[in-house]
Amino acid sequence: MTAKAAARTSTGRVRSSNEDAFGLRLEHGIYIVCDGMGGAAGGEIASRMAADVVLERMSAEPGELSRREQLHEAIAEANRLVLERAEREPGLYGMGTTLVALLLGADAGAGPALVAHAGDSRCYLLRGGELKRVTQDHSLVDEQIRLGTMTAEEAARSPFRSVITRAIGTQPSVTEDVLKMEVAQGDVFLLCSDGLTREVDEDVIARVLGAGDDLERAAQTLVDAANEAGGRDNVTAVVVRIE
Ligand code: CA
Repeated sequence: MTAKAAARTSTGRVRSSNEDAFGLRLEHGIYIVCDGMGGAAGGEIASRMAADVVLERMSAEPGELSRREQLHEAIAEANRLVLERAEREPGLYGMGTTLVALLLGADAGAGPALVAHAGDSRCYLLRGGELKRVTQDHSLVDEQIRLGTMTAEEAARSPFRSVITRAIGTQPSVTEDVLKMEVAQGDVFLLCSDGLTREVDEDVIARVLGAGDDLERAAQTLVDAANEAGGRDNVTAVVVRIE
């Protein structure tokens, strides 16, 4: 099996800077979306740093580590480096970022994939025409939905909907969720920031991802749809297909 990918990001129609970052290295099977926070400068720096650190670490030889351990170490290092810089530079105090990463098996998609995340950037999987959300948001409102104390409609309107409960670079350590899953030919993964999922319904996302094999067009169509719906936040989409 091989993998193909395309990515798009947009500042959106309201914000003046893009604090999202993405990265991908097909030859190492690693794909990342980060959504920074903590003021324009801080948000941009945190997301770029985290994406770059994880990309670099996952491009290196794993040595004694399993791929899962290597990914864990990479995320821990990103957390440490972002936090250190935030504490060193007063203008960057409080910066942090979400992170969602897809790690395919060593042989371009063969073997199980790992999906790791902290925060409310998401991973979706389209398989057999059906869209499934792979990640659960680490956000105040998502936790309340899971506890049954808030409905999805209430969450969408909540003033606290942007409050995330886990992030890279805001605490001395971070616990990412990691999911291991088998991949199959034809699987389409989407990594995205909340600027997409707040503006575009999941049935639209499913339709776009299932519309054909032009991944560049799919990524562009998703970003365009978010902007057409208001573009109130930065929006990023990384689309990966197993072939
Ligand atoms: Ca965002």
